[in-house]
Amino acid sequence: MTLLEIRDLKVYYYAFDGVVKAVDGVSLDIKSGEFFGLIGESGCGKSTLGNAILRLVPPPGRVAGGSIYFHGEDILQLPEDRMREIRGDRISMIFQDPTAALDPVYTIGDQIVETILAHNPEVSKKDAEARAIELLKLVGIPGAEARIHEYPHQFSGGMRQRAVIAIALANNPELLIADEPTTNLDVTIEAQILTLLDELRRKLNMSILLITHNIGIVAEYTDRVGVMYAGKLVEVGRTVDVLTDPKHPYTQGLLGAIPGRGGRKGRVTEIPGTVPNLANPPPGCRFHPRCPKRFDPCDQEEPALVRLPGEGRMVACHLYRGPES
Ligand code: SF4
Repeated sequence: MTLLEIRDLKVYYYAFDGVVKAVDGVSLDIKSGEFFGLIGESGCGKSTLGNAILRLVPPPGRVAGGSIYFHGEDILQLPEDRMREIRGDRISMIFQDPTAALDPVYTIGDQIVETILAHNPEVSKKDAEARAIELLKLVGIPGAEARIHEYPHQFSGGMRQRAVIAIALANNPELLIADEPTTNLDVTIEAQILTLLDELRRKLNMSILLITHNIGIVAEYTDRVGVMYAGKLVEVGRTVDVLTDPKHPYTQGLLGAIPGRGGRKGRVTEIPGTVPNLANPPPGCRFHPRCPKRFDPCDQEEPALVRLPGEGRMVACHLYRGPES
């Protein structure tokens, strides 16, 4: 069952020197209970897309078009008070820096309790505290009864990220958006946090949208993956299909850039050329200046995302357009 349907989403930043089209016509579905990875180089629009789902695009950015249906309701059209009910309740988000996400002057327990009470004012403080302890246990924090009284600085980096996850789960969200949640953690803690998220997803039947530049993580944990380039979704499909048989030349470049491909710990590295300026992107396919396979139509016609054989496989590249195109 589809939980989230993004249709032709456009998010633009209105800067002094031009309009930056950070997300430009992206359509994407996330199913109930699935682990979906969104990958691409820095600045490709993946974090902007995550923020747009929660209507948290910072100014001078704003949604310039499209729809985001959550349970069939376009959340971009909801009044802000209704959106506040969804944000942090049915859709939650965790960010890359747990230190910035926690308030240093309140205990971890107070911060979880506050999140519970903000969406459930009928719950007593005592019950909210009991739930806070339960949540800290759920995310694997030992001695939860005592540790709810501690402050963020008394937690290690990995424990702080677990506490942030506990806050995000406080109200049993159906969708958790995780934006580079392990970037600042060492690899052992990174694996622990991602394994924890995967276990929680299964246990709570939650969907996760994982935004990352790390293909190794995508390979290890996600069911499906979307590849973004310069504000566009260029390929989507089952992770195993996309990573073993990438169709789009950009995806092929990303995977080819991983040293010792097949080892699953590679990180995305540079492809020759530079990411285009999204205030003035190249005409036609935005990847054409860097594409080794470009041909006649590529610098003039923008390729549409077309369905390929295989479960939910789609690609935006003229190499795959049908004979009738
Ligand atoms: Fe390369 Fe053309 Fe495909 Fe773009 S449309 S990725 S330039 S072959």
